[in-house]
Amino acid sequence: MKDCIFCKIVAGEMPSTKLFENDHVLAFLDIYPGAQGHSLVIPKKHYVNLIDVPEKELQEVIKIVKKIGVAQVNGLGAHGFNVHQSNNKEAGQVVFHLHFHVLPRKENDGLGFRWNPQKANPEELKITQEKIIKALK
Ligand code: 5GP
Ligand code: ZN
Repeated sequence: MKDCIFCKIVAGEMPSTKLFENDHVLAFLDIYPGAQGHSLVIPKKHYVNLIDVPEKELQEVIKIVKKIGVAQVNGLGAHGFNVHQSNNKEAGQVVFHLHFHVLPRKENDGLGFRWNPQKANPEELKITQEKIIKALK
């Protein structure tokens, strides 16, 4: 897709620090890493995010997400890893080509996801449950 940074990386029109590639998927290092080894895993075809990616293509991508995370543990001495992925601008998506962040974690590394958990109201849980289940049908 024209004007998509990640399509340009796939096409070799922009440089990237590649980690893995096959017919469907490319994994490379994030240029603004949140931790050493912060990796991005993308489908080679352009999809905006999880909303439009076909399940089959997603399967190919998630397999490599696992592979990269395990390689961070085995190769970088990470104690674990997070997988982070945003859908649409309001959720914090900046690059509109589907990507999964894979972030190596170490004990006391100070990284964290920001949200503000609060005890759920049982009535709200029920209403929300009904809305989501209806949308799943
Ligand atoms: P988002 O906020 O959309 O989930 O994440 C986009 C990610 O892409 C950011 O972490 C950003 O650092 C990374 N990024 C943006 N442009 C480039 C680039 O040209 N090369 C690489 N390797 N990463 C990029
Ligand atoms: Zn793209």
